[in-house]
Amino acid sequence: MPGLFIDGLWTSGSSGGKDDVLNPADRSVVAQVDVADPTDVDAAVTAARRAFDAGDWAHAAVRDRAAVLLRVADLLARAKDEIARLETLDTGKTLVESELDVDDVIAVFRYYAAIADSDPGRLVDTGQRAVVSRIVYEPVGVCALITPWNYPLLQISWKVAPALAAGNTVVIKPSEVTPLTTIRLVELLADAGVPAGVVNLVLGAGPVGASLVAHPDVDLVSFTGGVATGKGILRAAADTVKRVTVELGGKNPNIVFADSDFETVVDYALTAVFLHSGQVCSAGARLLVEAPMHDALVAEIAARAERIVVGNGLDPASETGPLVSAAHRDKVEAYVAAGLTDGARLVAGGRRPEDPALANGFFYRPTVFDGCHADMRIVREETFGPLLTVETFSSEAEALALANDTQYGLAGAVWTTDAARAERVARGLRAGTVWINDYHPYVPQAEWGGFKQSGNGRELGPSGLAEYREAKHIWQNTAPSPQRWFKG
Ligand code: NAD
Repeated sequence: MPGLFIDGLWTSGSSGGKDDVLNPADRSVVAQVDVADPTDVDAAVTAARRAFDAGDWAHAAVRDRAAVLLRVADLLARAKDEIARLETLDTGKTLVESELDVDDVIAVFRYYAAIADSDPGRLVDTGQRAVVSRIVYEPVGVCALITPWNYPLLQISWKVAPALAAGNTVVIKPSEVTPLTTIRLVELLADAGVPAGVVNLVLGAGPVGASLVAHPDVDLVSFTGGVATGKGILRAAADTVKRVTVELGGKNPNIVFADSDFETVVDYALTAVFLHSGQVCSAGARLLVEAPMHDALVAEIAARAERIVVGNGLDPASETGPLVSAAHRDKVEAYVAAGLTDGARLVAGGRRPEDPALANGFFYRPTVFDGCHADMRIVREETFGPLLTVETFSSEAEALALANDTQYGLAGAVWTTDAARAERVARGLRAGTVWINDYHPYVPQAEWGGFKQSGNGRELGPSGLAEYREAKHIWQNTAPSPQRWFKG
């Protein structure tokens, strides 16, 4: 299948290079996709620049751009089953999760269609009767949208929907590991009537993204991925002073006070960390438990973790799927080894599943380490796998100190029946999203993003649209006359 979409046309890359896209459940080749080289990247950016400068999209009536987004939402709804299946083949996640992702993506397109015209600007009171001063919002220009492999369809929708709503043109680069649903989404965008050059797609690994970040005609980079890559992008973008939004990793605390309901906490602690086999930026990977509940909670979590059904995401019996690649499983296994070396106590998992039917896939059992402390690598670093660390605390102050003792600040949760304490801890957590007595829900209307090294900027909500707009001040003097600042 030709994978590049440049100036309204599907095309193969100029190099003729192709990448195999593997099903992580069995290593079969799901598709072969074209790979872009720097010439293709340049063509895509040039197309986006031309389309932006022509102004047809940037200056289109907001309702016309919103109508295109609504058509995309409708097309996604119609193709939901097929797209969810494709997401599962590509990422390994269970079909139920993929279906929820498609629902969320539809909601994101509808949300940005709805708020596209919500903030047309404002008048400024200058105190001068002859002056009309106003703020208008304009699109930033050509946006490079670079996404990771764990939530491919979801992550690109958080970027492309607001970027298009605001009147930008875009060049999309999905992860080389999971590009398939992004290719499908670009097909739907074209079907929905996005004009040629407004949406472009290039495929390939890091260097393709790097060429986009370096390109002088790109005005904005929106990146979701790892911290190291994000730092490199911030540095590279400095050369051309691009606007950059980075959504990076997390090492998120899930804080449980002993007054919480035991069964509920066990249940949510498992989904917090093991959803999508832990390959979730906001995964509740650090469980912090108040001492009186520790022993019983860890025993029950370990027992239930051992009962989680790991399998092919297309099998309705599977509760969680494989890791995304052999390389990623190697990384997770290295963290498990590091946990043992550093003295953590393995109480569940720590191994690949025994079922021979899963031997070809990149599966790994949900794993729980007790007796962890803050200087262990498995506590400090994002493992991005099905690996839970458990630490114990004795006071609210200690819980907060442990929770915030991290370079990350993406998300976190607190469990307690004491409303005042819940509020204090929620406010004390240095993170972009905090759940009280819940874990994982998000809505398109609410901002998402990181404190500290989890990133800068926000996606979703009104701020997610603001990222793609420039504020322009227009000052109009309706009665100009000589001022005689210079007297001669
Ligand atoms: P990654 O950083 O390896 O890659 C992300 C994307 O960047 C890919 O498309 C990749 O090809 C591209 N890339 C790589 N090198 C590049 C370069 N030098 N210049 C430009 N682009 C480059 O991340 P990943 O392994 O795909 O994804 C996992 C990471 O994403 C985890 O750290 C996870 O926490 C993070 N993530 C964060 C959020 C969030 O909302 N904060 C959401 C999902 C994932």
